[in-house]
Amino acid sequence: MIAFLLLIVLGVLGQVAYGWGMHESCQSIEQPLKNAMTVAFQRATEAKAEIRKIPRDKHVDALVKVVFGSDDAKAADAAQRLEAIQWLDIFSTSRPTAYNVILYCSTDRITDYIGRDPENKGKKIGYEDPDRNARVKGGALMDDCRSENHNGDASTRALTINLGSKKDKDGKDQRERIADTIQLCPWYLRKLAGPPPSYDTPDELVKKAADVKAKNLLAKFNAKLNHETATPIDSLAGFEHVLLHEMTHSAIAGYSDDTPAGKCYGWKHSVKCQKSENADSLAYFALAVELVLHRGYTVNKDGTLQKLADKK
Ligand SMILES: [Zn+2]
Repeated sequence: MIAFLLLIVLGVLGQVAYGWGMHESCQSIEQPLKNAMTVAFQRATEAKAEIRKIPRDKHVDALVKVVFGSDDAKAADAAQRLEAIQWLDIFSTSRPTAYNVILYCSTDRITDYIGRDPENKGKKIGYEDPDRNARVKGGALMDDCRSENHNGDASTRALTINLGSKKDKDGKDQRERIADTIQLCPWYLRKLAGPPPSYDTPDELVKKAADVKAKNLLAKFNAKLNHETATPIDSLAGFEHVLLHEMTHSAIAGYSDDTPAGKCYGWKHSVKCQKSENADSLAYFALAVELVLHRGYTVNKDGTLQKLADKK
């Protein structure tokens, strides 16, 4: 009995150790950020449940095959990664050390990491994040994120830094003790602060998604997409999509990746890659499931939206 109670207590404590927190730099957008995170968590939870449903909704089943292929193991892996994200769905403003992800909305704390050894003396070899007590070599994505000189050519909307991904000297994974950093890029947050696109009704949504001008504008939010590679659903991959994409990179969601070398970004590339461990594949699948469940639309392989006759 005592052992049983102890297990419950440990279980509760274990859960408290997970969640998401935000740095004070996010205070001014706390409410929109929370709203977008809520949508991201809902998408992950619903998408996971829909993959596992027996039998699957026929539209969801078609999406599973388009995004992850016909291999059941990939669908099962995708469901597992999406399920793990629900562990992050506890918010706290207190500074997380044991929390799983911490969001930053400014890069002001970041400084250049200057080499000290003879070979690199005085050279910038990466960046330092004093707030996370971290020094990172390389850091091209952070440079892009920090840059104010984009003119619509910025590609990095956000990035995740897995500080706890290394094993300690005893070979134990440190992921429960060091939170992952999710850095939201200031230039992107400023763009979001503009007038929000109205996607109130499904028909408006489709009209907007088919609008080439809007498509190009939204594709500019992510220069990894261009006129050739952007598809209608990419126009709907907004802030919630970015947040879900980044959360799939977290330790708890199994460190999903953007490999090979960023070639699986966007709908068009995601459906070509058919990888359950690809961050954008997971986020796009969850977005497409939301369209099926709540908007009465599904997504074709080419990224166009299709009205469902059998759904309201
Ligand atoms: Zn990514």
